[in-house]
Amino acid sequence: MATASLRIDLDAVLANWRALDKMTASATETGAVVKADSYGLGAAHVARILARAGCRKFFVAAAEEGAAVRQALGEGPEIFVFSGHMAGDTEMIGDLALTPMLNSLEQVTRHFEALPGAAFGVQLDTGMNRLGMEAAEWQAVAPTILGAGPKLIMSHLACADEPEHAMNASQLAAFRSMTEGLGVPRSLSATGGILLGADYHFDVTRPGIGLYGGLPWEGSQSVVTLSLPVVQIREVQAGETVGYSNSWTAPKDSRIATLSAGYADGLTRRFSNNATLYCGATPCPLVGRISMDLVTVDITDLGETPKSLDLICPEQGIDALAESVGTIGYEILTALGARYQRSYAGGHS
Ligand SMILES: *Cc1c(COP(=O)(O)O)cnc(C)c1O
Repeated sequence: MATASLRIDLDAVLANWRALDKMTASATETGAVVKADSYGLGAAHVARILARAGCRKFFVAAAEEGAAVRQALGEGPEIFVFSGHMAGDTEMIGDLALTPMLNSLEQVTRHFEALPGAAFGVQLDTGMNRLGMEAAEWQAVAPTILGAGPKLIMSHLACADEPEHAMNASQLAAFRSMTEGLGVPRSLSATGGILLGADYHFDVTRPGIGLYGGLPWEGSQSVVTLSLPVVQIREVQAGETVGYSNSWTAPKDSRIATLSAGYADGLTRRFSNNATLYCGATPCPLVGRISMDLVTVDITDLGETPKSLDLICPEQGIDALAESVGTIGYEILTALGARYQRSYAGGHS
């Protein structure tokens, strides 16, 4: 095996979706965010197992991603597009029955003119200042829009992973005042919002990272295992250096394993002299710079000669790895490159 292997546990994704679904009342429908190819894990696989388990609402960032999910799911499930109805997307939205979350008056006009009668939703800005119509704009166009029967009205929380943050209550109040009594299904919460409690759940939730085993939900099951095969092992003497720019010098006689995977596989240069790999439960420090296709690891204290070492495993989940290199689990997952040999376990229930 020459390439690193990324193992994705679909049963864990399914268990996470079901557990998130149980956190909300039965009247609240739990959707699934499968944008960015399901955070790098494979949107077609993830969407199929969740659809089989009863998920009917999927969310993607762009129409192209929606097309891939529609191909995997066939007709039936709703696929909402966060970026709305962009110029050039009309044919895809119409032909594949995608539901754009309209973000501006410009998009409303485009959608109504190009695809009259076609499904759509509305995205409102409640303070994040990223996407969606603001209160004044919404007030002006709401009568027209509501007459056309939106499928969903949504907004997004900026600070949901900080439960005590005053922004949460302020966005909740803004969302309520913009949407109360309209008779249209509402959605405010991603994973973090689900954890904030029932006030934040409304009619539909939109978990992403929680499905894939990442924080802020501490109780999620881990989904990913990443093992890097050992290409070569060498002895270096005290004072010798390893890798580009001689950035690591052996403090004593050492054994160095060279493994297949590098920054072309999403192991960014922040991993250099920083990350830790595991042989079972034994930590082995990554030493030297990350190369494009290779990393070097100090296995001096390991009693055995490993065939591979794990970077993401039960001893080190995506958030622990992320913290050790100064980022977040979301970025670790979505950076995992296309070169890995991906294998899927489970998903048959
Ligand atoms: C990415 C995203 C989500 C999912 O967020 P998680 O934190 O991964 O659960 C939900 N809604 C919107 C608008 C998003 O952009």
